[in-house]
Amino acid sequence: MTASISCTSCPVCGSATVKPIFDFPDLPVHSTVLWPSREEAMKTVRGDMRLTFCPECGHLYNSAFDPHLIEYTTNYENSLHYSGVFQGYVEELASSLIARYALRGKKVLEIGCGQGDFLAYLCERADCTGTGFDPSYIASSASGAGRDRITVVQDFYSERYADRQADLIICRQVLEHIAEPRTLLEEVRRSIGPRNETAVFFEVPSVLYHIRASDLWAFVYEHVSFFSPSSLAVLFTSMGYEVHGLRDLFATQFLGIEAAPAAGTHTQLPADQKTHLQEIRLLAEAFSASAEQTLDAWEERFRAWSSSGRRVVVWGGGARCTNFLNMVGGSKMVECVVDINPRKHGSFIAGTGQRIVAPEFLAQYEPSVVVLLNPIYEPEIRASLSGLGVSADVVGV
Ligand SMILES: [Zn+2]
Repeated sequence: MTASISCTSCPVCGSATVKPIFDFPDLPVHSTVLWPSREEAMKTVRGDMRLTFCPECGHLYNSAFDPHLIEYTTNYENSLHYSGVFQGYVEELASSLIARYALRGKKVLEIGCGQGDFLAYLCERADCTGTGFDPSYIASSASGAGRDRITVVQDFYSERYADRQADLIICRQVLEHIAEPRTLLEEVRRSIGPRNETAVFFEVPSVLYHIRASDLWAFVYEHVSFFSPSSLAVLFTSMGYEVHGLRDLFATQFLGIEAAPAAGTHTQLPADQKTHLQEIRLLAEAFSASAEQTLDAWEERFRAWSSSGRRVVVWGGGARCTNFLNMVGGSKMVECVVDINPRKHGSFIAGTGQRIVAPEFLAQYEPSVVVLLNPIYEPEIRASLSGLGVSADVVGV
């Protein structure tokens, strides 16, 4: 996590033909940290994102990323587990891993397990045991079924833990945070050694989704890498893995890759990835114009709402919301952000200082517009608004 990023070569394939395609200046570095006061939230550390594209493997990354700005703290809150939609996804993912890898009685290792929620849930469901690694793990905050089946090491995973053997290694929403993803893949590969029966499952956000959906807010500073299917496949094959499956997950917002150790390394793009590579090249070429258009359209919306005196709130106080409020200047008129996670209530958004409130607050606040940044939660949010008797317009991306 301490290595610097190169602005002259691709962190996945090493190609020097990389090209900056868009700048997002002054983004809050910690987009999911809970700030206890508006003053502290406004003083948040900022960093630049220079979105850079590699046409060779279809990877995008922030070539201006400064790892020294990142520091994971215990008030880091990115749990999505309070959403029924997200919980449903997690249960489905666990079911599919259990079915595919017949995990009963086996060992699972999770790199970057957070508070161990998924690992404990998986082990309980599968009747197996697990070891998790995460430097931000706090033993006292862990609860729920399956806790007796797992051990969590409060550290980054590295090769010195190679003695912790596993039948399945999982790593969810971690790889995109690492300045040198090849190093982690290499360490995992070396730790597996000759145990060819070990399976590996990694999950990352999908940049194809972000670009297709003009989901600019997903380009959060904490993420150095933005994987496309082709760059993810190239990363694994070039680091000594054979790709067994590469699938869209969570309504195409995530990518899941299943792999196993291979005898050698391959630098060739897998044949089934050529179409994806072609698509990401075209999208990257058009990105600058379409991003400007998206930002202008939001500024125009806020101007119109402001001049007609409408009361606007944003639903969902996560990283996307922080980026949205910081990227769209006109959103200064927004006074509060709604979130269903009670841990966030009463805290403030980094860089713009809106207070995070519970959905119940809207019954008295009576907003006329609710901005929704992730369409997957729309049915859930409409149901909540209707339950609260709030008849605001819901405006999505
Ligand atoms: Zn590349």
